[in-house]
Amino acid sequence: MSKQLYELGEKPPLGEVPEKMHAWLVRQDRFGKPTEAFQKEVVNTPSIADDEVLVYVMAAGINYNNVWAALGIPVNVIAARNKGGEPEDFHIGGSDASGIVYKVGKDVTNVKVGDEVVMHCGQYSRNCEWVKKGGDPMYSPSFKIWGYETNYGSFAQFTRVQAQQCMPKPKHMNWEESAAYTLVAATAWRMLHGWGASSIKKGDVALIWGGAGGLGSMAIQIAKAVGATSVAMVSGEDKFDYCMKLGAKGCINRNDFDHWGMLPHWKDGAGYAKWLKGVRSFGAKIWEVLGEKRAPNIVFEHPGESTIPSSIFVCETGGMVVVCAGTTGYNATVDLRYLWMRQKRLQGSHFANTEQANQMNELALRGLLDPCMSRVFTYEELPLAHQLMHDNKHPHGNMSVLIGATEFGLGASGKPPVAMVHPTLPKGDVHTTPAPYPMSVPLPSIAEGEALTVADDGTKVRDLMHLGIISCTPDDSVGTVAKIMVDKEIHAVVVMDDQGQAVGVVSQTDMVLARQGRTPDQARSMLAREVMTPGCATCDADMLLSEAVSLLTARRMHRLVVTENGQPVGVLSMTDVVRKIIGE
Ligand code: NAP
Repeated sequence: MSKQLYELGEKPPLGEVPEKMHAWLVRQDRFGKPTEAFQKEVVNTPSIADDEVLVYVMAAGINYNNVWAALGIPVNVIAARNKGGEPEDFHIGGSDASGIVYKVGKDVTNVKVGDEVVMHCGQYSRNCEWVKKGGDPMYSPSFKIWGYETNYGSFAQFTRVQAQQCMPKPKHMNWEESAAYTLVAATAWRMLHGWGASSIKKGDVALIWGGAGGLGSMAIQIAKAVGATSVAMVSGEDKFDYCMKLGAKGCINRNDFDHWGMLPHWKDGAGYAKWLKGVRSFGAKIWEVLGEKRAPNIVFEHPGESTIPSSIFVCETGGMVVVCAGTTGYNATVDLRYLWMRQKRLQGSHFANTEQANQMNELALRGLLDPCMSRVFTYEELPLAHQLMHDNKHPHGNMSVLIGATEFGLGASGKPPVAMVHPTLPKGDVHTTPAPYPMSVPLPSIAEGEALTVADDGTKVRDLMHLGIISCTPDDSVGTVAKIMVDKEIHAVVVMDDQGQAVGVVSQTDMVLARQGRTPDQARSMLAREVMTPGCATCDADMLLSEAVSLLTARRMHRLVVTENGQPVGVLSMTDVVRKIIGE
């Protein structure tokens, strides 16, 4: 008769599953700081389905996902699961682990009790029609991140996983090392190898953003293994040696350049020229590091908003920018001319499927992947590890926490297949990376995207709009338009054709852009039709103000032409809205 509960570190006899287990739990009434949200509790050991496996966890990897789970934002993972029919009122996180198989469901064939395994975090329903037809599980609506979107992750004595998540543990790694790499390495593998003809090949050049970070350190090694050359982007020279020991040919300090950020408007000649100068010197630096005039065939992206414009620009003709996150922001601006004329690909990528995770793991088994582990924590320190991440004070590299393993450094049972140099991680304690969002966050649906941006108190557009339209004709000169703006103290003039239809708007920004590269006289003599922003966003006078605001914010516009029976009758501007929602 087995014990009902084993103490932490007291390993139950192989295959014996106690009724209860120790675990770190997050509950809704204590959402907040990780040091308070995570509490030790004893819960029932989960039962398993026919395609599932119960693994005795030796060590667990730490990822940002469970900082968000602890905070309860942007998603309350417990409420989301309850809504989906799961009864548990708690969350056991943990999306990376190493451990020993203790129980298998009746349909499981790939692992048996006693196997030492690592687990990838991709779960999906084997009954999904798409998956049954052979579709990539990453596109299945049933896809979930284990230990974030699902319960019973690795922060407990036992974790419940699907058999397809289990992969052999590299014998030369100890428990904590083998728990550290899977999530980031499998993600990097799909990014580099998962995109058909654009995938990385021997002889390619790869530009790797965040080369000393979790994903980047894996990407450098994956690129090296295929015989590609990589250039690592970092924020300081203290990280050069680390990236080069991992296999990068050279590094670039991103702080040597200042053209990052969203693209200037293409009509902004001066701003665009400045950006072009910056990005060209960045491109020249890549050549210098490579020692030849070659552009990266693959750009490995995750900073997003601040770097995508440059990544697209420097990418080789026919090459690919592959992106799995937007750590600096989601509004990635792309100069489409470079995208279409040079036929580049901007490819989104998310985690990895079973096959890709196993291909990655093969590299680890062959001793060709350093887990880049920086710090291991004891079981007691699990909330602290998350708190450090929350406060951006965690060390560089991948972190683990001991669960069943009683001491650091246990679990390695063989020599590395090839001699491995463990490069020393850069020292700096404080991360500059903005807090990344969790790996899976439900995206707003179209309906939610139209959600109200101001409280809907029944106010209609007609209650707030300015009656009458101050307009010009398409053939009025910019000088005339400027005079109207100044005399009437308005920010934009509607351009109306001879049928009385609004065909565009000349805004103050359009006037400034028109002046660029021209003398005042030249600018004044241009026509409204040449400088206006064509098209005119309209709304009906009876539209709810909240709907009109959504229209404005979604399109980043400052004003709408208000119509009644199809005829322009007034203008609603953002100034009117601000006046209403903040007060005069
Ligand atoms: P990480 O270990 O914190 O590394 C991120 C790196 O980005 C840092 O090392 C930093 O390097 C660099 N960085 C920070 N600010 C930057 C900026 N403004 N411009 C350029 N580079 C900047 O994080 P990670 O584990 O590699 O993860 C990176 C992102 O991918 C996160 O948002 C994470 O949530 C996401 N992710 C997504 C998936 C997925 O499946 N979709 C999977 C794993 C991770 P330097 O300061 O040295 O430049």
